[in-house]
This record gives sequence, structure tokens and C-alpha cells, in this order.
Amino acid sequence: MRFEVPMSRLTSLGVGGPADAVATPRDRAELATLLRLCAEHRLPHQMLGAGFNTLALDGGLEGVVIQLSRLRLVEERPGGALRVEAGASHGQVLRICSQRGLGGLEFAAGIPGTVGGWIAMNAGIPGREMVDVVKELEVMSPTGQIRHLGAAVLVFRYRALRGLAPGSVVVSALLRVNPMDPGKVRAKIDELLSRRATTQPLSVPSFGSVFKNPRGDFAGRLIEAAGLKGHQIGGAQISPVHANFIANTGGATAKDVLALIHEAQLRVKQASGARLVREVRIVGKEIA
Ligand SMILES: Cc1cc2nc3c(=O)[nH]c(=O)nc-3n(C[C@H](O)[C@H](O)[C@H](O)COP(=O)(O)OP(=O)(O)OC[C@H]3O[C@@H](n4cnc5c(N)ncnc54)[C@H](O)[C@@H]3O)c2cc1C
Repeated sequence: MRFEVPMSRLTSLGVGGPADAVATPRDRAELATLLRLCAEHRLPHQMLGAGFNTLALDGGLEGVVIQLSRLRLVEERPGGALRVEAGASHGQVLRICSQRGLGGLEFAAGIPGTVGGWIAMNAGIPGREMVDVVKELEVMSPTGQIRHLGAAVLVFRYRALRGLAPGSVVVSALLRVNPMDPGKVRAKIDELLSRRATTQPLSVPSFGSVFKNPRGDFAGRLIEAAGLKGHQIGGAQISPVHANFIANTGGATAKDVLALIHEAQLRVKQASGARLVREVRIVGKEIA
């Protein structure tokens, strides 16, 4: 357990005040004990993957941030499946797929994070998301009970997984894969990565898409049409490369980022009538 850890170090945008404590349990038993202790002592806990879609506020986080970075086993299972623990990283999973010739997950190339974050966010690209590949989830309840939930009972929505009890933890997922020529898997991944390199601001800290795309439109297009591309508040900037990204140009605070989010919502509403709904998750509290 580490104490007073700046969330700016645990999230990709690089902003946010300190978390009271950060725990990285070694195994399921430690995770269960930790969750039970939190419940017993009424300590809030917050799951965090690699922080690629999380905005941590400047006042920091009360309680315990839990990261499963030590649960990262990836193993093939019979019947075209890959069992992946929630702490496995995007790079680790995709490398294994391309080495072993396992197709089906290439769409996730360039969606940085952990398997836990992929599942909780139903991460994806237009036409394919995690819901299309999840066969089963292993979930731990806040009281430490493990359950295996088949795809039929899981409620995935656009960039969300609903229906789990609050405070539940995704421990592992069984993902559908199919045999494929390793070279083809690699080529598909490379193609998707190089497309992103030309359309997204990958050289500056960001947390990916700020807003969900409204039905039949694109949040980035609406923000650009409202004249906000490149607009800056403090150290936070609506990316000149892709208007649905906010970049930390250096020294941004969460307050700057929130102000930019609210301004984008307001200006888009005024310009086009569309309501932008946040995709990025916000944690912690503002400075009083
Ligand atoms: C450059 C860039 C490009 C991106 N492109 C895309 C894209 O094309 N498509 C897309 O969907 N996303 C995209 N994203 C966003 C991000 O990559 C995804 O949302 C990813 O799934 C985040 O994973 P993470 O582990 O970092 O999640 P985090 O940000 O750490 O957490 C996200 C949410 O998941 C929850 N969570 C994490 N682990 C667990 C767990 N084990 N159990 C329960 N809940 C958990 C957290 O509590 C939080 O609510 C992009 C981000 C960047 C920076």
C-alpha cells in the first residue's frame, strides 16, 4: 500500500491531486481481504486501470485506489478463447495475439489501458467493441465473492458496462478469438495504429475521447464546427489535431480541463443544439 499518491502520476492526462492510498493486491485472496476491509471500515474504494480514460480532480481521492496491475495472466483456453486477467495491458494482450496468431481483438489496437478498463468502458471503435468479444466475466463483489457471468446476463452499453453491483471488480475476462495467420494479425494491428497516428494527438498527454459521439454524428466534428479547435484554458487545450481530445500542454489542472469540458458542451449546444455527453470518467473531489 502506498499513501498520498498523486493521481497525476496514475492517469494519462497527468492531472489530479493525491489519493489517500493506492493498493495493488497480489492475488484474488488479497483483493477480497482489501474489499472486505474497505466495506467494514466504510472506506470508499475506486478501481483504476491504467488511467487512460480517467480525469482525477485536483482535490484528490478519499479512500483506496485499487489497481490490478499484478493480476495480468493471459492464457489460451479451448474453444477459441483467451482468459485475460484485468490488469493485463493492451500491449501485452495484442502482442500475444499477434505472436500466437489469434484474431478478433485487433480492433483494440490503439485503445490504451488494461483489460479491466476495456471491459468497464466497453471500449471500441465504430462497428466493434468489447461486447462483441466477451464470452464471460469473472467478477468479485464488494464482499469478496467471485461470480462468473456469461455474456447473456451482461449489460453493455455505449462505453459502459451496467448491471454490476456498485463497487464490483472485474477480475478477468474470457474473450473470443479465432485462429488467424500471425502476419495478418500483425498487419491489421499496424494498419489501425498508423491510421491513429495521423488522426489523433498521440504525442501529448490526453485521455482519448472526451465525449461520446451523438447518434449519427461525431463529437469532434461538432466541437470543431463550434469554433473550438485549439481553444485553450490554462494548460488544457482542445486538440488542434482532433477536437474530441483535450491535451495537457503543460501544467494543466483538472479545473482547467473541467472548464474546457463545460465550455465545449455549452458552445456546441448553442451552435447546433446537440447535447454532448461525457465519455471520460471523473474521480475525486474539486479543491474546496
Ligand atoms: C490516445 C487515446 C486513444 C483512445 N482511443 C479510444 C478508442 O478508440 N476507443 C475507446 O473506447 N477508448 C479509447 N480511449 C480511452 C481508453 O483507452 C479506454 O477507455 C480504455 O479502456 C481505458 O482503460 P484503462 O485501464 O486506462 O481505464 P481507466 O481509465 O483506468 O478506468 C476507466 C474505468 O474503468 C473502471 N475500471 C478499470 N479497471 C476496472 C476493473 N478491474 N473492474 C471494474 N472497473 C474497472 C474504472 O473504475 C473507470 O471507471 C483512448 C485513450 C487515449 C489516451
